[in-house]
Amino acid sequence: MTSGEPATLAPDTVIPPAGVVRRGVLGALDLLLDARSNGRSAAVDRSVLADLDATHRVLRLPPGLRIEWLGTAGFRLEMDGTVILIDPFLSRRSLSDTLLATSVHADTELVRRLIPRADAVLVGHCHFDHAVDVPELARLGATVYGSASVQRLLGCHGLADRAVRVDPGATYEVGPFTIRFVPSRHSKLLAGLAVPSGGELTCESLDGLSSSSYRCGQVHGIHVEVAGTTIYHLGSADLVEDAYTLGPVDLLLCCIAGRSVTRDFTPRALSTFAPRTVVPHHLDDFFRPIDAPMGLSLNIDVAGFVDDVHRFDPDMELRTLVPFVPHGTVPAAR
Ligand SMILES: [Zn+2]
Repeated sequence: MTSGEPATLAPDTVIPPAGVVRRGVLGALDLLLDARSNGRSAAVDRSVLADLDATHRVLRLPPGLRIEWLGTAGFRLEMDGTVILIDPFLSRRSLSDTLLATSVHADTELVRRLIPRADAVLVGHCHFDHAVDVPELARLGATVYGSASVQRLLGCHGLADRAVRVDPGATYEVGPFTIRFVPSRHSKLLAGLAVPSGGELTCESLDGLSSSSYRCGQVHGIHVEVAGTTIYHLGSADLVEDAYTLGPVDLLLCCIAGRSVTRDFTPRALSTFAPRTVVPHHLDDFFRPIDAPMGLSLNIDVAGFVDDVHRFDPDMELRTLVPFVPHGTVPAAR
């Protein structure tokens, strides 16, 4: 016994290791998330999601375009055989595992099973729930477009040649898709005061790339034009109005997580992008496996977002998607 330890413990006293205590506390958070997904406000949100579900309300898309929500901020777009992904996040862990893991990387088997091929991956910011699977998709052949932090992440995996560091003034062509990146802003999720894991990503070694090592980096909104339709992906619930000059969009893929800390987020986003149709995303609990039934993010209040949209414009079209249910023309067999 060392001099720092108490001398009067009963013989049957069990002191759990610190790691077990931490896991116990965080495990309680896992249970809290599950409880939230089954509570009464979740039932209201689920009924709103079902009512606006694009499987029974048409999501107007040009012939040949296929769009699929991958959960969280992830989307897959396909046209004429070209596949682009935006912020895909498949390799999920429980909240406790995410916080305790010293190294957070893609589940390579899962990624290869669910998204075997993509031509390009567009990354709006470098937090783990937007970027963790990106190196693996690059390894499978995709070109990655994103910030300096995203480029550095690829470099850490020996994939620097797969990364394009984007310039907001530039236009990128990927098959039939024309893509532009617009400077944007991340919501200050830490009590409205700060962005979690802010700053630029650095990775001295891949072993030490924990969830909080995935630094946000520069944030971009992503403007996609295809077959005469415009789509804008907002991956976090804030924006820089002055940076956006591309005109009204057909579809606004609108992150709704964390919007409560951003002043007037919904009316500001709707007046800036003037969308025909709003598709809310980043509303699911991403601390459960991708193939488990969808849970809802803590305090997401989908119903409140729909009210905000209709307060701004009672006729605004809203559609919700179900993860991995594609919409639009199913391409012919390849
Ligand atoms: Zn983020």
